[in-house]
Amino acid sequence: MTRTEQGSLTRVRQPGPVRVPRDPHPSVRPVLGIAAWASLAFVVLLWLHGGALQDLAAGGGSAVTAAGRITGLVAADLLLIQVFLMARVPWVERTWGQDQLVRWHRWVGFISFNLVLVHIALVVLGYATSDGKGIVSETVDLVVTYPGMLLAVASLGCMVAVVITSLRAARRRLRYESWHLLHLYGYLGVGLAIPHQIWTGTDFIPNAAARLFWWTSYVVCAGSVVLFRVGIPLWRNLRHRLVVSRVVVEGPGVVSVHLTGHRLDRLPVRAGQFFVWRFLDGPGWTRGNPYSLSAAPDGGSLRITAKDAGDGSARLASLRPGTRAIIEGPYGGLTGARRRRHRVLLIAGGIGITPLRALLDEPDYNRGEAVLLYRARDADELVFRDELAALAEHRGVRVEYLIGPRAPGRWLPGTAPKVSDATLLRRLLPDVASYDVFLCGPSPWMTTVQASVLQAGVPADQVHVERFDW
Ligand SMILES: Cc1cc2nc3c(=O)[nH]c(=O)nc-3n(C[C@H](O)[C@H](O)[C@H](O)COP(=O)(O)OP(=O)(O)OC[C@H]3O[C@@H](n4cnc5c(N)ncnc54)[C@H](O)[C@@H]3O)c2cc1C
Repeated sequence: MTRTEQGSLTRVRQPGPVRVPRDPHPSVRPVLGIAAWASLAFVVLLWLHGGALQDLAAGGGSAVTAAGRITGLVAADLLLIQVFLMARVPWVERTWGQDQLVRWHRWVGFISFNLVLVHIALVVLGYATSDGKGIVSETVDLVVTYPGMLLAVASLGCMVAVVITSLRAARRRLRYESWHLLHLYGYLGVGLAIPHQIWTGTDFIPNAAARLFWWTSYVVCAGSVVLFRVGIPLWRNLRHRLVVSRVVVEGPGVVSVHLTGHRLDRLPVRAGQFFVWRFLDGPGWTRGNPYSLSAAPDGGSLRITAKDAGDGSARLASLRPGTRAIIEGPYGGLTGARRRRHRVLLIAGGIGITPLRALLDEPDYNRGEAVLLYRARDADELVFRDELAALAEHRGVRVEYLIGPRAPGRWLPGTAPKVSDATLLRRLLPDVASYDVFLCGPSPWMTTVQASVLQAGVPADQVHVERFDW
């Protein structure tokens, strides 16, 4: 099942004086969690302060409208949280990792969209009951006579488009780039909803605390998006001016792209992180693809390694030296900053080896403290064999190749002994619970690995994952 590599050093990396991004402060996690819940509690307080209890007690249309108001307030707050989660704020990215943020973004989006629908239904019903009108004429009346309501309808249109195109079945039919472009209309949706909140929202306008809360929230969210999604990427590209220096074939359908640039020692990136890459090699350059660094940054160059998975990744093989690259990032939190223990177990599936290979360049382990389990369907799929052999020899990394088609429901090859994956993991590393485990590979495979790692006794806070499909 396994084989240990010991080989000669083929690639010597001389680490330069690299600017390592500062680890996020441990307080980021609780502080942001508390801030999110506190903002929700605050909007409930605003609602209560706006006379909600009296409206509820009055019953009839007032009660229904009051219920509509709170769903709208919570939805507005969740929409802002959703935008903030995707604003690429570096210490948020590094604390949770982008795949986790994307999962939360999806859930928060699902809840806020449904609350928006409930808000609309309740407000229309409440007003119709109070005014003694039918639903249709009340809806028309609300849209045409209340300020900001036409924009709110346009906002709803954008949100519906974003939600429909994000449903699994629709998403599968769309190219990633088309989906992503449509998804950006979500920002327009959030923006177009603001006027009706300010002009007609009884809980928005009445007191200074409410105004301060909402304006601060809008400014923080919009500012974060503009700064971290536009300003900083622009500045980094102008400063570092990355160009392709060479392209190396690593195996069938897998190439490494090496890049150089200006003052790369000042680019704050760590092994385990990724950028979204665009190469100015002709039409189609606007489409960005995320690739992890496959070697730790050495202050003078960067390397990514990609498998041909479609149009974008296939064109990497034909990049010419001198081609300009545009980056967004660095993103992701699968870095040494997550380490809690001395020993580290890296488990890679297929091209998921890339960030783990880079992590092995980091200096934060001693001989015998790092183990790499590298799974592939067949030996031809393995990359970096010479480099891994060198790491085995010079840094004492234990490298185990797990080759062969996966047994049904398992993450190990079909040839593995017929005991549970967790049992096998414990046989391989009896003290596995004392390792930090870093995982990267195809999503369904990773879910199985993660389950067996936890079953083998590794505490959940020692398991760190990066998914290549969001
Ligand atoms: C955080 C992260 C790190 C990654 N690192 C590596 C790596 O080091 N090496 C490697 O070979 N692959 C990596 N991938 C996967 C790689 O990004 C996709 O294989 C590649 O983008 C496919 O694009 P394509 O145009 O070739 O194929 P397409 O047919 O256009 O896309 C195939 C699938 O790739 C995903 N994808 C495409 N574009 C994007 C995008 N901009 N953002 C997110 N997902 C996208 C979608 O799920 C899509 O369905 C990584 C993915 C993520 C999310």
